[in-house]
Amino acid sequence: MYKENLVPLDEHQIFLQGPIVVLKWKNAKNWPVEYVSSNIEENLGYKREDFLLSRIKYADIIFGDDLLRVSNEVSNSSLSERNMFEQEYRIIKSNGEIIWVYDYTTIVRDEDGSITHFYVYILDITKHKRNEEVFRRTEKLNTVGELAAGIAHEIRNPLTSLKGFLHLIKNGELKEEYTDIMESELDRIEFILNEFLVLSKPHLTKYNKKDVHVLFKQILPLFKTQAAYKNIQLVTEFDSEELLINCNGNQLKQVFINFIKNAMEAMSSGGVIKIECKKEHNELCIRFIDEGSGISEENLKRLGEPFFTTKENGTGLGLMVSFKIIQEHGGTIQIKSQLGRGSTFEIKLPFG
Ligand code: ADP
Ligand code: MG
Repeated sequence: MYKENLVPLDEHQIFLQGPIVVLKWKNAKNWPVEYVSSNIEENLGYKREDFLLSRIKYADIIFGDDLLRVSNEVSNSSLSERNMFEQEYRIIKSNGEIIWVYDYTTIVRDEDGSITHFYVYILDITKHKRNEEVFRRTEKLNTVGELAAGIAHEIRNPLTSLKGFLHLIKNGELKEEYTDIMESELDRIEFILNEFLVLSKPHLTKYNKKDVHVLFKQILPLFKTQAAYKNIQLVTEFDSEELLINCNGNQLKQVFINFIKNAMEAMSSGGVIKIECKKEHNELCIRFIDEGSGISEENLKRLGEPFFTTKENGTGLGLMVSFKIIQEHGGTIQIKSQLGRGSTFEIKLPFG
């Protein structure tokens, strides 16, 4: 008789408390209240007679924003063949206080199915709602806390090294290699912060129509030297027609670079990386197919977690940022992988 998903916490406590009011409506002109329990006075501050004599209607004490939803539920349930329904909404006490209630309504019908009465049991779930809210907020704080701890950790390493070199320089030791290392440590900090900026400013992103061929033409040359050095062939298989997509070109390029880099890093003994770009079922489908190490089942689940990396010098931010960018473009990413064989990262983006 009672759905678990409506009030998942301390449900027993709520039922033990008992209803704060019980009402019965009769199917007659204007739906008069036939019964109202006396505890309404103590719990809500209204007089029973006001309801019995229709001086106050129950709809009058339902919180304005919830009223339409509540009355829709009542009419839908009445029209269906249901004999009960339940809902949560707010009501206003006579002193102006707003409380959350759980409403369990039984519909009594005669033999031909027409409604004779409504019985309504009202439970106060305000405290429970507040718990739920606190719970949700704590969850969010935990995620933010975890992220902050991760960022701090990632930035502390290069900072420690920078401090060490500064110390050496202060003591009169200035070697060119120090400044080179310092520069690369600063680059790393800048890189990590930039990755996070992408996440924090989605609303500032500008979208234009871009041909995906052009985007790839701009980035593929970047990999030429390294690919030759690692004995990797980058093969492209693109639809010949223009593939125009509404996007932020720089962000999409960042995603492509992340995927190609990861593929190359997974192929220590060379091989082929194939990039397919096709229109399929009115979607743009981009696949990065590598012959690298593959990803274990266990690690597959963790892809996209901030700072999850299996590389000594990895940041574990590339996939997180890529997922976020594709999501903001209304697209999806699918990953298939076989250990020892290779992986396929597939991006699907809507046209238009
Ligand atoms: P990073 O490259 O800094 O480690 P990413 O977020 O780009 O961070 O990738 C996270 C992890 O996902 C990598 O460390 C690697 O274990 C795994 N991974 C990503 N792409 C591939 C791939 N093409 N082949 C094998 N493993 C991959
Ligand atoms: Mg990476």
